[in-house]
Formats: sequence, structure tokens, C-alpha cells
Amino acid sequence: MKIQVGTATLSLVQVDITQQEVDAIVNAANSSLMGGGGVDGAIHRAGGPQILEECKAYVAQHGRLPTGEAMITSGGRMRAKFVIHTVGPVWQGGAHREEELLANAYRNSLRVAVEHRVKTIAFPSISTGVYGFPIERAAKIALATTKEFVQKIPQIAEVRFVTFRLSDFEIYGRLFSS
Ligand code: ADP
Repeated sequence: MKIQVGTATLSLVQVDITQQEVDAIVNAANSSLMGGGGVDGAIHRAGGPQILEECKAYVAQHGRLPTGEAMITSGGRMRAKFVIHTVGPVWQGGAHREEELLANAYRNSLRVAVEHRVKTIAFPSISTGVYGFPIERAAKIALATTKEFVQKIPQIAEVRFVTFRLSDFEIYGRLFSS
């Protein structure tokens, strides 16, 4: 599924994010940047130890990555040149700035991408796994934040939203076509 927003194409696919041939894939990391489960574990497994080395060097220099922020490493052994690591909020009922922090995670990932001349980027559904953010609310924020960004800064040619669960693909799909 594809839609055009300004000069960018937003696409929706149900595939393995670690195999994507894009300039950058986004990792739903945690603040420690030391790897974890879910998509984070899958990215480190596919990319190999180089990514963790770069994350450790970053933390040694800058400390933990705050929620809503983003940093970049190489893609290690993956086809993607870069991994952009961002930390989404843990869902705590909705009154703890979760929506704002999730939007920040998308916006800051896109900002880091632009700084590195990324043209094609793939996002997982940040915060909607272990972090428990309700999928429909998260998908709306993902799409709205991305649309606003690419309209303002026309450098990115394609933003690919990659779902893992089929039910997530269907929810994103309804929002894509609405
Ligand atoms: P978070 O902690 O931000 O919730 P998760 O990795 O638990 O991060 O979930 C983020 C997204 O990644 C969810 O859409 C989840 O379904 C998906 N996901 C979980 N495991 C994998 C995997 N092995 N490969 C790709 N995506 C995955």
C-alpha cells in the first residue's frame, strides 16, 4: 500500500524489517542501547556485533538515550547502511506525555535521517510491542508526524512502515486509505 505526501512516498508492508533494502532502518530501542527483545533483538542479531559496539561507544560518551530522542549507528551486516535507534515511551495509561514522546521519537528519527542524507527509511511500530502503546493511537501518531515532517522537509523519498503482526498491518492499512 502506498500514498504520496508531497515529494515522499509512504508505504506499508508486512515483511522482516532487518532484510529491508533502505538507507536506514529504525530500531525501537531502550535507553540503555544495550539491545533487548522484539525488533531490537532482531536488528542486533541480523546486524551483528558492530552495532552494539557503536551503541556502547555512544553511551560511554553521551550517557543513556532519553525517551523520544534518536541516535545513529551503521547497519552492520544488514543491507541498510544505517540503524537509527530511538526510544519510544512505555505506555502508562496515557497521562504521562506518551503521545508527545512517541511523536518526538518519529520526528527525531527523521531529523537524524535527514542529517545523514538518508532517502529511504523503514520504521517498525515503535512502542507497540513490549512497551504496550495502543496500536491504533500509535499508528495515527506515526502517520501524522511523518506526513507533517516530509511536507516540511522534502529530502526523504520513501518512508516505509513495517508491521510485524498481521493485525497491526490491517490497522495501519485502514489509516493509510482513510
Ligand atoms: P517496544 O519496546 O518499543 O514496544 P517491541 O520490539 O516490543 O518494541 O515492539 C515494536 C514493534 O516491533 C511491534 O510492532 C512488534 O510487533 C514488532 N516486533 C516484535 N518482534 C519483532 C521482530 N522479531 N521483528 C520485527 N518486528 C518485531
